[in-house]
Amino acid sequence: MNLIHGAKTLIELRKDYCSMNPEEKKDFYEAKCRYYQNYVAVITIASALLSMLYLIPDYLINGSIIPTLLPRLFAFIAAAVFLIVTGRCQKRSVLVFMDHFLVHAIALSCICTVFRLEDNTYAGEGFIIIYLVFMLTGFASKPLESLFSCILFILEVIISTTVITYSDLECIIVPMCLCTIGIFISHMFLMLFYLDHYRIMQRLELAMVTDPLTQVYNRHLLERIITQNALKDINGPVAVAMLDIDYFKQVNDEHGHYTGDLTLLYIGQKLSNETHDDDFVIRFGGEEFIIILKNCDVNNACARMEQFRRDIEAATDIPVPVTVSIGVSRYTGDFSKTIQNVDNALYKAKNTGRNKVVVY
Ligand code: GH3
Ligand code: MG
Ligand code: MG
Repeated sequence: MNLIHGAKTLIELRKDYCSMNPEEKKDFYEAKCRYYQNYVAVITIASALLSMLYLIPDYLINGSIIPTLLPRLFAFIAAAVFLIVTGRCQKRSVLVFMDHFLVHAIALSCICTVFRLEDNTYAGEGFIIIYLVFMLTGFASKPLESLFSCILFILEVIISTTVITYSDLECIIVPMCLCTIGIFISHMFLMLFYLDHYRIMQRLELAMVTDPLTQVYNRHLLERIITQNALKDINGPVAVAMLDIDYFKQVNDEHGHYTGDLTLLYIGQKLSNETHDDDFVIRFGGEEFIIILKNCDVNNACARMEQFRRDIEAATDIPVPVTVSIGVSRYTGDFSKTIQNVDNALYKAKNTGRNKVVVY
């Protein structure tokens, strides 16, 4: 039963993956790389360092470590290059390239060592152990990148036959091919399982910034906008509006809290519908909303908010008839100052009769 459920989940995840557009896939693989990269870095660095332990069997075969010392040190140097590059650049493409660069450095150091061994009977076993590192390195990559990397390793071994005579090449290449197929399939599954985690994280992140009553954004998003100074990168003017429902306490007192909640939901949803997709509608407090209007100058913002005010005044499907007061100001580049300005505008709207839009 569990197996059937697991298979169904995987089919659903596969459908979800196939329905993603290139932009979403890019974001997904960046998130996957961010999630696994530290683990992969530790594993590959540790593998490069531990590959020095192979000097022990090298000694047992050759009676000296001198002939294989240089090729073994190659993995060490590659690990240093890996640390320098990944410390400076955090781009997914660079990180994934460096992960595979380091595993191939380990692989090439092994191939060069085999060249210097007097007896290479156990070369195949050594290569299969390296496949374990390929398997773990692929966690941060796309399945196709892992596949390509594994095939490249087989090609490296095949090319090395021009200078190395392996005792039984078939017994090396066939297991390597099987490992490549196994790694590709397991990374396809891993990618789907990560997609499950990715979707849960997306839902959690959305829930964190969504107000459960009105379904618009909540103050967490506002904090994020302020701390990340997120509006500064927008080309074109930005306007900010603050809306407050007039005499809302009376609505609760006369019609009950539940009807009050439905009225808040109505206004939140109407604001979402009447603003653009890239604008932000945020529930700022109890019956107050902040609206961030992108690519919108203050006159346009005023006209749009005035239209909204009229729509609310004339609404016939609203749970309780209410009016709203709105303060509008242009975004100055300093969000705290802008909020102060819209707050002043709203205060003026409230003190001069309510049910109006005031610009500061
Ligand atoms: P004003 O025109 O000056 O804004 O008057 P007001 O009554 O709207 O303002 P006041 O600040 O006195 O009251 C706000 C009310 O909003 C009080 C509170 O009960 C109500 N409120 C805040 N959050 C919620 C909520 O989530 N649901 C409901 N139903 N009411 C809420
Ligand atoms: Mg109010
Ligand atoms: Mg209020």
